[in-house]
Amino acid sequence: MSIELLAPTTEVAEPPEILAEPRTLAHRELRRDDYWRALPGYAAVDADTFHTHTFQTRHTVTNVRQLSETLGGLAPESFYADVVAGLKRAPMALRISPYLLSLIDWANPYEDPIRTQFMPVASQQVKDHPELRLDSLHEQKDSPVPGLTHRYPDKALFLPLDSCPVYCRFCTRSYAIGGDTETVEKLKFTGRSQRWEDAFAYIESRPELEDIVISGGDTYNLSAGHIQEIGERLLRMPNIRRIRYATKGLAVLPQKILTDHPWVDALTRVVELGRTLHKEVVIHTHFNHPNEVTGVTQDALNRLTERGITVRSQTVLQSGVNDNASTMQLLVRRLSYVNIHPYYVYFHDMVPGVEDLRTTLAAGLKIEKFVRGHTAGFNTPSFVVDTMGGGGKRDAHSYEYYNRESGIAVYTSPGVKPGTFFLYFDPLKALSEAYQLRWQHAGARNEMIQQALAEARRAGR
Ligand SMILES: *Cc1c(COP(=O)(O)O)cnc(C)c1O
Ligand code: SF4
Repeated sequence: MSIELLAPTTEVAEPPEILAEPRTLAHRELRRDDYWRALPGYAAVDADTFHTHTFQTRHTVTNVRQLSETLGGLAPESFYADVVAGLKRAPMALRISPYLLSLIDWANPYEDPIRTQFMPVASQQVKDHPELRLDSLHEQKDSPVPGLTHRYPDKALFLPLDSCPVYCRFCTRSYAIGGDTETVEKLKFTGRSQRWEDAFAYIESRPELEDIVISGGDTYNLSAGHIQEIGERLLRMPNIRRIRYATKGLAVLPQKILTDHPWVDALTRVVELGRTLHKEVVIHTHFNHPNEVTGVTQDALNRLTERGITVRSQTVLQSGVNDNASTMQLLVRRLSYVNIHPYYVYFHDMVPGVEDLRTTLAAGLKIEKFVRGHTAGFNTPSFVVDTMGGGGKRDAHSYEYYNRESGIAVYTSPGVKPGTFFLYFDPLKALSEAYQLRWQHAGARNEMIQQALAEARRAGR
């Protein structure tokens, strides 16, 4: 190597080429056209009406009859039949807001990332991995009182309700959320006020608890009064330092932030009370694709920003939705642009009925490498696997062992459940035919898993 190459350069470097490319600014292009008018059911609806939470909730589509009434001839008959058959085998019922429905590209619904997340089609469903379980995360096993999951030392998950403004196909809580379907009879969170009291009493009785995630269901479906009641109750507990309201609402019905004033005011009062008590109150939301961030999202986030409300987002990595580097980069940039901090990207949980949505660990790890370094570190999400069996979230890169041929990854979680191994399985469709075959035999299956565990034990020594 020549000496000159090592000498410090005095030349001023050109700015990196990529800064000048228009595609690097694509995250700023937020839709503000009247996209809903392309749907026959909404053709006559003006913007002022469409962008209200009352229109959105009143016209939410919950069955295929309403879907075909809204879309008319935009989708072929065969598509509706495909959805009907898909719903028969799905763990989640159909529920989609007019806003989301209008953001779907109806010229190509089979490939559309929003359709893929909210409407099952039988023609794309695949058989479950043999190791899948309902409540794969052991949320019910880690519940000291119904509707409260306490797995980590200082934080707990409070589930005050079991409904949501939409139903996502990939929902981890398909054991509880939404109405019964043909394949899943749901656990019902009944006897609400006593159950809430039990949860509050438990939280107050555990001095180590500082951080409460209020989830569900979805806190968008709590009334203004309940938002305030839960928030104040928790903030007044001396042990509680941080609360987060979890809602998918900003991604599926951002109009509520602009038109449901009592709800936003209630939330603001809780945030202000938190500030007075020197405690943190934030929103955690959930976006999966850049198409879900529009002009109305930006308007809603501007409103929250004016009120000093911090919003973070988590994403679920899904095949055909966001499992490529450029989509994930665009999502992260677009969220950051409207003041949402990308927090997590979850590998798809191992839940039944949505195997077509899962990706391999390898695919997600590769995407992570493209996302990290793309923008500010505090807007760079961690890619995590929420382990089956209650080990909690693990940095996806931190596996003890990963065999890309059998698709088995082994994690440990010494801070949560020391001495236990946790498994993640790649979807079978991504494996070679020989390995797909091995997974069909219980004996071979067990052998592969035991071997992976032995390798992980060896690696850990
Ligand atoms: C995800 C989760 C939390 C919150 O975890 P963070 O990593 O702090 O976001 C708390 N409790 C349970 C049971 C969870 O699954
Ligand atoms: S909004 Fe959240 S809890 Fe509700 S169905 Fe979707 S993923 Fe599940």
